[in-house]
Amino acid sequence: MGALNYTGKVLKNLFSKPVTTKYPFEPKTFMERTRGHVVNDMDVCILCGLCQMKCPTGAITVDKPGQTWAIRPFSCIQCRACVDNCPKKSLSMDPKYQEPGVEKIEKKFDLTDAQKERLAEQARIAAEKAAAAKAAMEAKKAAEAKAAAGAKPDDAK
Ligand code: SF4
Ligand code: SF4
Repeated sequence: MGALNYTGKVLKNLFSKPVTTKYPFEPKTFMERTRGHVVNDMDVCILCGLCQMKCPTGAITVDKPGQTWAIRPFSCIQCRACVDNCPKKSLSMDPKYQEPGVEKIEKKFDLTDAQKERLAEQARIAAEKAAAAKAAMEAKKAAEAKAAAGAKPDDAK
């Protein structure tokens, strides 16, 4: 009985695909939900800083004036908090594992030129709207003050 089982296994193994792969010649395939490492699409990021606030290990640094986004990969615990809280969905988990290293490096990324232009344009429009709203408010206050000054002589009668 044991010999029959053994023969069956030998035959099955002879005709089935090997369970091992020829790594590194064959690229490794990762499971769908593997939390490899965080990547940021710098053409979409608006440097709002929410990912930095939500990161429990302080692995992310957002430098708005310098227009850079940085991550310390060896401080990251792949919790996905940054990915799930990014309002622009520019963050994602790449299923490939982080490459090993001997130093605790920081990886810094610049916004793309196109994204810099888009953000500058948005800031210009927002500044124009704010200036227009301020001017309208001042004009309204001046008109109210003028009306109040004009009404005073009548009040005195
Ligand atoms: S939360 Fe998203 S959009 Fe905001 S700084 Fe982080 S990566 Fe950029
Ligand atoms: S996955 Fe978690 S630990 Fe890693 S950078 Fe994002 S929030 Fe921080």
